[in-house]
Amino acid sequence: MSRPDVSSEGEPPLESTAASLDPADAFALIGNETRLAILEALWAADERPVPFSALRREVGMRDSAQFNYHLQKLTGHFVTKVDGTGDDGGYEFKHAGEKVVRSVIAGSFNEHPTFEPFAVEGACFACSGDLEARYDDERLTIVCADCGEAHGEYSFPPGGLNDRTAEEIAEAFDQRVRHLHCLAADGVCPECSGRMTTEIVDEGECCLGVRVRVDHECAQCGHTLCSAAGLRLLDHSAVVSFHRERGVPLDDRPYWTLPWCVSDEYTRVLERDPWRLEVRMPIDGDELRVTMDGDLAVLETSVQTGD
Ligand SMILES: [Zn+2]
Ligand SMILES: [Zn+2]
Repeated sequence: MSRPDVSSEGEPPLESTAASLDPADAFALIGNETRLAILEALWAADERPVPFSALRREVGMRDSAQFNYHLQKLTGHFVTKVDGTGDDGGYEFKHAGEKVVRSVIAGSFNEHPTFEPFAVEGACFACSGDLEARYDDERLTIVCADCGEAHGEYSFPPGGLNDRTAEEIAEAFDQRVRHLHCLAADGVCPECSGRMTTEIVDEGECCLGVRVRVDHECAQCGHTLCSAAGLRLLDHSAVVSFHRERGVPLDDRPYWTLPWCVSDEYTRVLERDPWRLEVRMPIDGDELRVTMDGDLAVLETSVQTGD
């Protein structure tokens, strides 16, 4: 087992030159039915590595030389050969190969997915109207059916619609948004694992119509996410217990039912340089106030009671 070299400070542990592929070359390599079939056969295998002969059988190609030709094209970039004795050795995924198969699976079971907007739990923070989920262009949006105010929008692969009822789709979307934003706020791009930056912004409006918000951007692939500042606080211990003590379990309800997660009406800019934000969370006359810095770290919490 080789460990990544983490000893040299500040240096990336991997040489990214020798093995890296031009995207056009990468697409050319897998733009072939046999090679996709090899990746899918690897995916479907009960155990990996898969020996050469078993892999060839699974793909259903008689001509061993031709099969080997295609397999070699994948080897190094998408697939790796693992040495072993007898039947122990064989072929195994590299990360990029697994990713290709995953994206084929995520997209292809349901190629042009649509569903009629359906009602979801909660009420609009702006007008108390009914909320609904809409799906368009592989993005799911929670929207007020009355005033059109957005309560969250994020990519949702078509594969996520399979085998789920409307209610389960909404639940999966809630989980997905929570996890992806959590990853982003921790500095890891949910798309490519690159370095993600976090920035407080208080001008213009994002896709959610929020002015004071958090923007995340990946330095590597350019992926962006935005949210109200409160979304970061969903699993902060003081926030969780303040709500639990008042009968509101935060992990048991969609984030969009909590107005401080979707609207900036509850966010106040206390200071700009350096950033200090305050998020208010009112329940039945009591209110929790959380102060955060520009990295979304919690600096202070205080409870104001109504009586
Ligand atoms: Zn509304
Ligand atoms: Zn990225």
